[in-house]
Amino acid sequence: MTDTLDPRSWLYPTPRGLYCKPGDFYIDPAVAVPRAVITHGHGDHARPGHRKAMATPETLAIMRTRFEGMPDTSQHPLKYGESVRIGEVDVELAPAGHILGSAQAVLAFKGQRIVVSGDFKRRPDPTCPPFEPIPCDVFITEATFALPVFHHPSDMGEIGKLLRSVATFPERTHLVGVYALGKCQRVIKLLRAAGWDKRIWLHGSLMALCKLYQEQGVDLGDIAHVSDAILENFRGAIVLCPPSAIADRWSRRFAEPVPAVCSGWMRVRARARQSGAELPLIISDHADWGELCQTLKDVGAPKVWVTHGREEALVHMARSLGIDAAALHLAGREEEGT
Ligand SMILES: [Zn+2]
Ligand SMILES: [Zn+2]
Repeated sequence: MTDTLDPRSWLYPTPRGLYCKPGDFYIDPAVAVPRAVITHGHGDHARPGHRKAMATPETLAIMRTRFEGMPDTSQHPLKYGESVRIGEVDVELAPAGHILGSAQAVLAFKGQRIVVSGDFKRRPDPTCPPFEPIPCDVFITEATFALPVFHHPSDMGEIGKLLRSVATFPERTHLVGVYALGKCQRVIKLLRAAGWDKRIWLHGSLMALCKLYQEQGVDLGDIAHVSDAILENFRGAIVLCPPSAIADRWSRRFAEPVPAVCSGWMRVRARARQSGAELPLIISDHADWGELCQTLKDVGAPKVWVTHGREEALVHMARSLGIDAAALHLAGREEEGT
């Protein structure tokens, strides 16, 4: 049965997104649909307005924070490892190690298993459980950093660079650009792990999701809104903000700020320059080239479909491993939280 069933006959891209026919649902659709399975809370995967959205309880909490007035009736929580039947398809969510609540969608139909990884990484992240390799017939992978040049250094090493700079310039404010969802909270946890127990100041737009992480049991220590500061000159302080705020009027209140940006793209010199980062820190929530290659070996899927990013290089690499690989072009993926 498995040999004769073409996986493309039951899971395929449509203009609305990746569609599972025998379950009549979409995965991370680009528009509002009657039934969606959502891998995680980033804006290019979780969109508002689905009549039914199935996701981990953490992802639903993130969606409620981002999409005001999300009706209770639309929310269908599915914990990691729990299984549910939708139409003729068994659906399960497995940890993806990307951000809080992030999951791979594991779909089983007529003895065939397809894993939609969503976004993932392999290195440990103190804010979410690690990626779980699931053996499958078809593995659908992202390809954000799918070029051999992308090798992410150790995250603690990058945090060490930041703390050394803070020690070297105690009279200046370190302004650290981070994405609001995932990167921000991971960087805070990494700073804590490196021994930084002082208050960490936050731009207003980062407050709501940090609060949510804390409610979900991720201890971020002493954090506070920059606007709540009284008699604080921010000298020697670490202030987190969205990358766009670094060039903004908002940043003028700080004393000789040292602008830093945390992103996998900081590997690319032109991107680092463009971001205005004096201190580019390569900290990514996506798998780098080595992690992508390792993952293809770990899941052992004879077929791999590659979505959003540098598809060509990964397809080529997979074929060299004897895998039947192809690019899968999905609408509406503008990467958030790299
Ligand atoms: Zn993501
Ligand atoms: Zn994505």
